[in-house]
Amino acid sequence: MTRCLFVFLDGVGLGPASPHNPLYTLPLPAFRDLAGGQAWTAEATPVRQKRHVFTSLDATLGMEGLPQSGTGQVALFAGIDGPKLHGRHFGPYPPSTTHEPLAENSVFERLKRRGIAPEAMALANGYPERYFKLMEARNRWNTSSRAARASGVRLRTAADLAIGEALPADFTGHAWQRHIDPDHVTVSPEAAGQRLVALAKRHRFTLYDFPHTDTAGHGRDGLTPEIVLPMVDAFLGAIHAAMDTEHDLLVVSSDHGNIERPTTKSHTTNPVPLIAVGPGAERFAEAASLLDVAPALVEALTA
Ligand SMILES: [Zn+2]
Repeated sequence: MTRCLFVFLDGVGLGPASPHNPLYTLPLPAFRDLAGGQAWTAEATPVRQKRHVFTSLDATLGMEGLPQSGTGQVALFAGIDGPKLHGRHFGPYPPSTTHEPLAENSVFERLKRRGIAPEAMALANGYPERYFKLMEARNRWNTSSRAARASGVRLRTAADLAIGEALPADFTGHAWQRHIDPDHVTVSPEAAGQRLVALAKRHRFTLYDFPHTDTAGHGRDGLTPEIVLPMVDAFLGAIHAAMDTEHDLLVVSSDHGNIERPTTKSHTTNPVPLIAVGPGAERFAEAASLLDVAPALVEALTA
């Protein structure tokens, strides 16, 4: 029985192999490994093997303007055209025009329809109490948490985090310690990756939503590509090493470009990477846009 861990990295595009692209210039061995020994750039050669796919996805979906997180993640996590539904790119939250289609078509809901119980699926992120209060007051759940809630996949809390049953949004917990709980115990990126794999081993499908690649691309919170990308590299390396990809499927993708072009603080129209390693990876070989990931994932897990 195949399990799947989907690591979502916000705001990671495939840009030119230029001295300004940190995905090209920084030594990122785990990124390279996942791309068949290449840097994550637009010039990289796609990998289309039975058990390993590395390819690029259109993130604009033919809509003018810069892709945004809300509508882009609706496309990625639900396979429905968020920008078209809303009439434009919108973010960071999914607009109300997409709420019902997201609930009905999300990867969680699609897997539920194929017989996977909500308890067998996980959104690995743990959220602080104040996030719940804020979201309930404003109804501005982000795409992954809105989709999980709609399908009965529980949102994890600080209590889950305390026992290693969830990861904070920044996976090492430094931001959680700084902003939420000074007593929170931080972990290394490697330990965080191992923790995520342990959680994924207990579920058929696990999604982890990492926003800080986009934060670094925007130059917010003191984060830069030089700080964040090596941490993500260590995290991904530990995940890849700890996962049994003979039996379980690892998927990594993004919603739009940003961090690959630090010279501007805005999103880019670059394609985004799609990586699949493990059984069913070949189902992703012909994926061409954000819309193709959720259907392929469901087929890989349940066909
Ligand atoms: Zn985004």
